[in-house]
Order: sequence, then C-alpha cells, then structure tokens
Amino acid sequence: MIVEDEIALAEVVRDYLLVERMHVDMLTSGAGAVELIQAKQYDLVILDLMLPEVDGLTICRELRKASDVPIIMTTAKVEEIDRLLGLEMGADDYLCKPYSPRELVARVRAVLRRRPLGRPAENPATNDRLIIDAGRWQATLDGSQLDLTRREFSLLQALASRPGRVFSRDQLLSLAFPNDTEVFDRTIDSHIRNIRRKIASVSTWDPIRSVYGVGYAYDG
Ligand code: CA
Repeated sequence: MIVEDEIALAEVVRDYLLVERMHVDMLTSGAGAVELIQAKQYDLVILDLMLPEVDGLTICRELRKASDVPIIMTTAKVEEIDRLLGLEMGADDYLCKPYSPRELVARVRAVLRRRPLGRPAENPATNDRLIIDAGRWQATLDGSQLDLTRREFSLLQALASRPGRVFSRDQLLSLAFPNDTEVFDRTIDSHIRNIRRKIASVSTWDPIRSVYGVGYAYDG
C-alpha cells in the first residue's frame, strides 16, 4: 500500500513495484488509511509523512497499536527523520525525498527480506551471517571471528538487535553504552569506522548502512 498525496510520484513508485511483481494499492490522502490497511492486511506500507486529512505520524501510531505491518516512512525533510526517530514510532525504515524509485524498491525488498511474511517480527533470521555471542563478547561474520573491542562489540550488538532500524547516534549511545560516560555521539563514528574496517578484513559485505544526517542501520 502506498499512501502518498503526490500522485505522480506514487504512480512511478507503483510502476516500479509492479515490475517486481508486487500488487500495489494507492491512497492519496490519510483519510481512512488505518482502517483500510488493517482490513486488507497489506504486506508493507509506504507512508508519506505530510498527507491531507490524517498525517503519516498519526497513521503510523494508530497502525502500531494493533499491527506489525512493515512501514517505510517517507518525508521531504531530512531533519524530520531525526525527529521521527526520537518519537520511536516503530517504522521499519525512513526515506528522505527526493528519492529514486530504485532506492525505494531496494528498501522495500530489504524490509520484506527481514520480515518474512507471516512470521513475527522478532524472529531471528535463520540465515544470519553475523553471529553475536553476548556471553563471550564475540562476533562472528561468515564464520570468521571479528576482533572487536568491548565498545565496538556493544555498538554492533545494538545495531544488529533491530535489523533495518535506523538509529541516531544518541540512541546508539544510550543503547550500547548506557553507563559509559566516556563515549560521546561523535565517537560513535570512529567506532563504526573501526567495526567496518574489521568486518572488511574478513568479508566484502558491509552490513552497516550510514543514513545521511541521521545515523546508522544494520542491514543484515
Ligand atoms: Ca506529502
């Protein structure tokens, strides 16, 4: 389901998704969106923030009260994403306009991959390439052990705890280092650089995604 009041954009996105053999419905206003999405049990919702009648924020919150449907939120302002993250509305991904339809399709596929249809969201993927052993502070990628410091381990663990969720640096700080006053939001970046370097030494795959102006996500 695409909820988007820019009809030309919605139609382009719909056409791209049709090529992927997905069934697509569109709504150009927020009115009745919650009821329709719940009634029809969509596999995924692409939800614009600014909508006539009922805005995307309200729709997302209403949906989350009773539904686990994957939601990708789109917004025209990159600053909005930070605010949305702070509100912890439970969307699965956020995308800033203007986006390329190809990018959106890639995100849709990634969200659907992480949330196999008909299974609860919190089920760990069975084909996880990254194995985190919290008891031994060890992370293994594609069978190779990553030589991480404890802080790097905590950070990777926090990111990987919610695949696909975009975390701000502040959120990563409180998740990964709740009692560590020596880590600041800018040091998150250097820890991420180190984790990436260590991952690159054992794999060509980089599961950490930088989200411009916001923070990081783990796309395992
Ligand atoms: Ca809009």
